[in-house]
Amino acid sequence: MSLTSCPECRRQVSTKADMCPHCGYNIRREDMKLGVIGFMVIVIVILSVSSIVGFFFSN
Ligand SMILES: [Zn+2]
Repeated sequence: MSLTSCPECRRQVSTKADMCPHCGYNIRREDMKLGVIGFMVIVIVILSVSSIVGFFFSN
């Protein structure tokens, strides 16, 4: 079992816990937000790469 620190109260929380047992902060929601940001970064990278490739192949 590994521990992480709560982003709200900075106390040790199990990574398996859905929410902080100390302050009730929802840790899973924070994970989901990071996942959305990661997904958007991947989409932006794919779009920029495909536009660069399209630019070179159109000439
Ligand atoms: Zn907390």
